[in-house]
Amino acid sequence: MSVLNIAGIVKESVVDGPGFRVVVFTQGCPRHCPGCHNPELIPRTGGREMTPRALLDTIKENVTPLTRGITFSGGDPLLQADALLEAVKLVREEFPQFDIWVYTGYTFEEVKDLPVLRYIDVLVDGPFLEAQKDMNLAFRGSANQRLIDVKQTLKSGRVSCLSL
Ligand code: SF4
Repeated sequence: MSVLNIAGIVKESVVDGPGFRVVVFTQGCPRHCPGCHNPELIPRTGGREMTPRALLDTIKENVTPLTRGITFSGGDPLLQADALLEAVKLVREEFPQFDIWVYTGYTFEEVKDLPVLRYIDVLVDGPFLEAQKDMNLAFRGSANQRLIDVKQTLKSGRVSCLSL
């Protein structure tokens, strides 16, 4: 059974995708971007180990009537891609009405073949680059990061971005 290393969960975020969202922060990131917004989540140790089922149960406890979607952030959730796949499948089954966003420091091109991609709606890709920092961008910190419509992108074979 896979386990995820989880740093924490936020019940009602409005900055990690549209609407009120439950946000799962994973522990561990392979990068050290200068200006990282969550440097305490870079070490691969220090979080709480949870099975995908236990994580789903915790997400359920945090969902409210206002919840519009679930976001996985970090750290880098794709560092734990196999366990994340199991968790995302469970979330999809339990909450088919929610959209699922995943933040990663990898580019879409680097991770496009991961099975978990087929179960998410939006991938916010690429590392935070201080030189391209822009506080006016929606749901991301630097201009290199893209809000990728994963389903449309996988269908068409061309990267399709949300214009938010
Ligand atoms: S990819 Fe994100 S979490 Fe990882 S070091 Fe860069 S800004 Fe921080």
